[in-house]
Amino acid sequence: MENLVFLPIVEKCLGCKRVTGNDENAHCSTYLNPGARWRSGHCALASHVRYMAPEVEEKKRVGQQKQKKHK
Ligand code: SF4
Repeated sequence: MENLVFLPIVEKCLGCKRVTGNDENAHCSTYLNPGARWRSGHCALASHVRYMAPEVEEKKRVGQQKQKKHK
């Protein structure tokens, strides 16, 4: 089996439950390259970040419900 190299975590990983190792050698237990997981938005497996639906979608639904009540 080839040796896998775990790159260090990035700042945005701080607080995630998947961070393992000590302060000098902290790495992700799931991904080899944590920095790549954050390059295009947020890491999908980050345990410390909650994804919130865009507020625009919520307002749109409320407006539609009000229209139905007036009919
Ligand atoms: S799961 Fe994502 S946020 Fe958590 S340590 Fe790994 S790369 Fe970082």
